[in-house]
Amino acid sequence: METVIVWFRNDLRLADNPALHAAVAGGARVVPVYIHAPEEAAPWPAGAASRWWLHHSLASLNASLQTLGGGLILRRGPSVDTLRELAAACGARQIYCNRCYEPALRSRDQALQSALADEGIECLFSNGSLLHEPWKLKTKSGNPYRVFTPFWRACQQQRTGAMPVPAPETLAPLPPALVSLSLAELDLLPSIAWDPGLHETWRAGEAAAQARLRAFAETTLAHYPEWRDLPDKTGSSRLSPHLHFGELSPRQAALTLQQHAQAEPAPNLIRGTEALVRELGWREFAYHVLYHYPHTTDEPLDARFAKFPWREDADSWRRAWRRGRTGYPIVDAGMRELWHTGWMHNRVRMIVASFLTKNCRIAWQQGARWFWDTLVDADLANNSLNWQWVTGCGADAAPYFRIFNPVTQSRKFDPQGGYLRRWLPELAPLPAPWLHEPWTTPPAVQRALGLEIGVDYPLPILDLKQTREQALAVFRSRVRRAGS
Ligand SMILES: Cc1cc2nc3c(=O)[nH]c(=O)nc-3n(C[C@H](O)[C@H](O)[C@H](O)COP(=O)(O)OP(=O)(O)OC[C@H]3O[C@@H](n4cnc5c(N)ncnc54)[C@H](O)[C@@H]3O)c2cc1C
Repeated sequence: METVIVWFRNDLRLADNPALHAAVAGGARVVPVYIHAPEEAAPWPAGAASRWWLHHSLASLNASLQTLGGGLILRRGPSVDTLRELAAACGARQIYCNRCYEPALRSRDQALQSALADEGIECLFSNGSLLHEPWKLKTKSGNPYRVFTPFWRACQQQRTGAMPVPAPETLAPLPPALVSLSLAELDLLPSIAWDPGLHETWRAGEAAAQARLRAFAETTLAHYPEWRDLPDKTGSSRLSPHLHFGELSPRQAALTLQQHAQAEPAPNLIRGTEALVRELGWREFAYHVLYHYPHTTDEPLDARFAKFPWREDADSWRRAWRRGRTGYPIVDAGMRELWHTGWMHNRVRMIVASFLTKNCRIAWQQGARWFWDTLVDADLANNSLNWQWVTGCGADAAPYFRIFNPVTQSRKFDPQGGYLRRWLPELAPLPAPWLHEPWTTPPAVQRALGLEIGVDYPLPILDLKQTREQALAVFRSRVRRAGS
């Protein structure tokens, strides 16, 4: 019987996995493999929270493969040597995988494909993670898109109608001669137990992704357009880590929601589905930008903001931001949610990013790095695009003069303060008017509540108005200088 290799990467699922499907369709025996090679993703190897997720996702994938009669071979890199050795050991001449779009992994894949081709081993790539391949969409003038709305219009016109492909029903047992590392040997879990919050919050794996998608469709979808901006509600899908690790494809997500909305036709379900699919469109846009402008992981797309005079003397502000001790409750709540759960609400991500890049005037790259290490959904395309969006230096970015006021945002999107109270228990007794700006709480009220602002919770580390004006002056001068 012919043997082929299926190389799993960011596609840790069995259903709608085009590479796995193509391998099985050929009737060959399939050897599924995952290769841990963080150095090949440099300078963006997976951060600590992502490694935690990866560990649990691999465990789940292995269990699913075993249920079908197969299993997962775990190895360490270098990928090219490992694949060469595995191919020789099982007599495979073909390696099936789904494409990666991160710049380092694209280069790695190209080099590996030609090195293995020289030895008669063929690498066959499929699209397992995007609705549209980035090179297939071009503006009328033949350039990549830099603005979301026309990009999304083009995507909608290009609808492929392709349906998800099924998971295999059975797999042949692995060749006994092939040895696998144990999952523990990949050393993905933290040595210090900082992860209980992640355990409380998440279940990794394909089955958990499907369950979350179903629960979202049944309980939240109809309210998504209104609720998605309210951090106190579970108003968004929380599918981001599942999508990042490919436990769910965007095609599966979009189709399941569309079918749900059609089965129980209700205007709210249709509206919710359209809104959610549009967010998947932002994900597509982020991959499009990453593919065509690979330098944007580290440099701004808008060259006017290269060599920007970021503050070099703001270490204490950066530390306070990371630890959720800036004295601005919505910023601190977000940063503590991130630390505890590995995730942060989208609206709050925008607020904390604006605070770091505008009020603290700390380089967006430093914020992106912290997110990279702490988010379970850390995704090079989405993270780079969104940090630049907030800063005002990226594709279709918010104008540089949009500076979120954390107090106004907090009042507007968490009016009852439920989100603030959850993540800042020391402020829980404060009545709403003061909760959003605790430093204004009269001393008598503080005494009555047994709370001292400045002791139990920090005073603001900076003045919002003053730092806003300074940021505007610096940003404006950059834009003017570039225009002159
Ligand atoms: C500064 C900053 C950094 C971010 N970093 C990341 C990141 O590393 N990884 C990541 O997946 N998202 C990132 N986002 C985008 C967004 O915050 C998350 O995708 C979203 O909060 C995930 O929650 P959800 O799955 O409930 O989203 P939903 O609202 O349910 O959206 C469904 C899916 O659409 C996609 N999506 C939603 N919003 C965006 C967006 N603005 N850009 C791109 N895709 C989007 C995600 O895949 C998401 O899972 C970032 C946003 C900001 C402002």
